[in-house]
Amino acid sequence: MHEFQLITQYFTKSSKRKDVELSVGDDCAILVPPKDKILAISCDTLIEGVHFFSDISPQDLGYKSLAISLSDLAAMGAEPAWVMLAVSLPHAKEDWLQAFAQGFFQLADHYDLALVGGDTTQGPLVITSQVFGFLSKDKALKRSSAKVGDLIYVTGTLGDAGLALRLLKEHQSVDPILLQRLNRPEPRIKEGLLLSNFAHAAIDISDGLAADLQHILEQSQVGARIYVEQLPLSNILQKSVAIEVAWELALSAGDDYELCFTIPRSQEHQLVQVMQDIECACTCIGEIEAEPGLKIQRKNGQLIELKSKGYEHFI
Ligand code: ADP
Ligand code: MG
Repeated sequence: MHEFQLITQYFTKSSKRKDVELSVGDDCAILVPPKDKILAISCDTLIEGVHFFSDISPQDLGYKSLAISLSDLAAMGAEPAWVMLAVSLPHAKEDWLQAFAQGFFQLADHYDLALVGGDTTQGPLVITSQVFGFLSKDKALKRSSAKVGDLIYVTGTLGDAGLALRLLKEHQSVDPILLQRLNRPEPRIKEGLLLSNFAHAAIDISDGLAADLQHILEQSQVGARIYVEQLPLSNILQKSVAIEVAWELALSAGDDYELCFTIPRSQEHQLVQVMQDIECACTCIGEIEAEPGLKIQRKNGQLIELKSKGYEHFI
């Protein structure tokens, strides 16, 4: 299949968005952001053998390649608008492309996100998506905005995707619920938008809670204490492994794409209210303190040392 045919057939989709003046097919897309907003932009790459196993379904890959970028918009409190998609493919197989595009557009359509351009090349299987979202000035959930005394919260449950990954690596069978957590993470867009009204700092958990929270601590020049017994763990995770292993996964395995955020103590009541309204489970796991460093503590006061801090490239 010819490159341009492929783009027209699988990656050209009309959108109702009025802010897209020119979409796929020209040298550039032409886009018109709202006058009263600023842009939030992020891109993420998935590489075969590094970020996903070769036997991932093309639907899941299409979905996930967008979900992980959208998760960055969520963590900034931005409203998704547009996306660019760069795909490098070993070959152009039509049924594979069809399935990939289906997974991708399932999520894009859900957020009324317009695919406005990209790049298509032949090479190893590598997918990059770049998303653009709108933010109100001064509402960005920056990593540098945590304040001493803030409460630290996370959405959902942690460690499920990490367990799925560990089982896949060991060639063990994986419960479909866990596999869903790994391959179909739900970007917390609604949550991020609501949080942008009153939260201080936020980050999405892609590399592991400890590693990602550390970014907030460094950029905000503060420290934190978290309480392991308070980490939100799914029933399935608790049933599958010993509690210490569950904690380790929750703290240092990535891929959950939940949000970790800080709020002033005075906003706790409001947080509980708004998260209840959208049926999002949120759990307080600790607090920001002045003394630098991340302390992970048990109820009895004992501090926990992590075996691994989280995923890093180039080590
Ligand atoms: P150029 O040569 O100007 O870089 P391309 O030939 O790479 O343009 O792409 C032609 C058009 O198709 C451009 O508008 C580009 O944004 C779009 N495009 C290419 N690949 C994709 C893709 N995978 N998804 C969406 N749009 C794409
Ligand atoms: Mg090009």
